Amino acid sequence: MSPIRVLPDTLINQIAAGEVVDRPASALKELLENSLDAAATDIRVELGEGGMRLIRVADNGIGIARDELSLALARHATSKIANLADLERVASLGFRGEALASIASVARVTFASRQAHDSHGWQIDAEDAEASEPVPCSQVQGTTVAIRDLYFNTPARRKFLKSEATEYGHCEETFRRIALARADVAFSLSHNGRVRWHLPRQSRETRAQQLLGEDFYQATLPIDEQAADLRLSGLVAQPAYSRTTRDAQYVYVNGRYVRDRLLAHALRQAYQDVLHHDRQPAYILDLTLDPGGVDVNVHPTKIEVRFRDARAVHQFIVHSVGRRLGDQRAGATVAAGLPGDAPVSRDTAAFLGLPGRAQWPLGLSAAQTPNLYDVISSAAATSAPPTPADGEIPPLGYALAQLGGIYILAQNSAGLVVVDMHAAHERIVYERLKRTLDDGLIPVQSLLMPVTFNADALDVATAQEHGDTLHRVGFEISVIGPSALAVRAVPTLLRDADVRQLAQDVLAEMREYGAERVLAERRNELLSTMACHAAVRANRALTLAEMNALLRDMEATERSDQCNHGRPTWFQLPLSDLDAMFMRGR
Ligand code: ADP
Ligand code: MG
Repeated sequence: MSPIRVLPDTLINQIAAGEVVDRPASALKELLENSLDAAATDIRVELGEGGMRLIRVADNGIGIARDELSLALARHATSKIANLADLERVASLGFRGEALASIASVARVTFASRQAHDSHGWQIDAEDAEASEPVPCSQVQGTTVAIRDLYFNTPARRKFLKSEATEYGHCEETFRRIALARADVAFSLSHNGRVRWHLPRQSRETRAQQLLGEDFYQATLPIDEQAADLRLSGLVAQPAYSRTTRDAQYVYVNGRYVRDRLLAHALRQAYQDVLHHDRQPAYILDLTLDPGGVDVNVHPTKIEVRFRDARAVHQFIVHSVGRRLGDQRAGATVAAGLPGDAPVSRDTAAFLGLPGRAQWPLGLSAAQTPNLYDVISSAAATSAPPTPADGEIPPLGYALAQLGGIYILAQNSAGLVVVDMHAAHERIVYERLKRTLDDGLIPVQSLLMPVTFNADALDVATAQEHGDTLHRVGFEISVIGPSALAVRAVPTLLRDADVRQLAQDVLAEMREYGAERVLAERRNELLSTMACHAAVRANRALTLAEMNALLRDMEATERSDQCNHGRPTWFQLPLSDLDAMFMRGR
């Protein structure tokens, strides 16, 4: 072996470039993000030969001072964060200060900029990370970065580039992702001198319509839900628009496009009831939350994130999207009965942290009151509850009816009880899974017919290597081919779940975190994922007996006032509040 030595900067940057700029599209992403971070409102992209010969991005942002031009190309040089506290709450798209340095180490870069107070622009050229002195240039306010001949000096990398058409395709997808996120910014894209996209500043809907097509747009429902500091807005396509590939799935966290397992899982679950499992849903969604609640510094390209309260985020998305789709299916019933767009779910925030407290009547407008009354009175009329003497009524009372496929309405001694049946059931199953695993083994149900499915090599390997762990959590999964698995047994509590989905999620958890961690520090996450599958789906009709059984289970389950993620599972609407609503003195 040779002696240890410190690598030269250029080589360090070239190594980093392997992660940050693995193809033209990645370099384009970095430039576009820099332009957005510089508050540009108009961004023009020119590509040559799929971005391999040229990527030029011109913006009208704040620009860079002459003396900072070459600094911007230096490694770990950034204007976006200064300390750890900044990193933990970062709101800009960039912050690592390595994109331009990496790009400049594997391409010829021209960097020109002009700030508002400058009388002309300044430009530097860099090759092999050697930057020239700034020279005056003609430039309107903003910055223009041109990247030429990507990988001219790293032939091994260049060999990995695909055809011009393929590289262009990736660039266009990158452009689309970013342009979809920022309809308030004008964008254009041209390739080999031909204009491909010209997008003025426009509404989000029009932007989506233009970029994803009329069919997509016509099939979507707007969504805008909020709970505590989480907000989810955007467009979700109705199940009829489903595709066989994942090409129309855009999720942004605080404006950043991400491909995140947790979010993908939550969305799949939200669509689970309404979509056949080999079809893919379509959506454009913006999740916004306090930047302190999400770590974006997980991956060099920042495509993955970690949420501080992952479970709450998961649950929020499942419920918000699930309800939106559910509202739609229930169609003329609940959604039309209550004025406004899905008012019940809109009010989720008001219920947060308030189990057992009536918040609803206070938030109701006069216009909504008669509709709520209709719902309740017709429910009561069709199914009279048992009315034993006061002392005997259990805490959560007796079921009256199901509302909107989502809630159970029950009567107890204080008045009306409203239960979120999915959340409640999930909590019950989760607590039982925890208890049985603590006791040793989770009870197992063998399947009469094994459920077989195609799996990728990693899942097959996971099933093979971690048979024991799978067994401990109630699964028997055997390998029946190089890319096929058969599920032969599942936890008894989950026997009604979609077995394939369930198995895939459990395998995904194990392959991501390893079997030991899954049984140790991630045990509750795993059980919670499993519980999601068992829980009663929205819009499943329950009989009164089933509803009463669920109420009794809730009373018997620890912590059942809240679902696994801290949302309330039920709340009380006291008779006195109803009386007040009707201005009825007693
Ligand atoms: P990061 O974006 O992580 O800070 P980069 O290497 O992408 O790192 O950019 C380095 C610095 O160069 C940025 O922090 C910013 O100050 C400056 N910069 C890059 N592109 C632009 C631009 N289009 N407009 C203004 N400043 C820019
Ligand atoms: Mg950057």
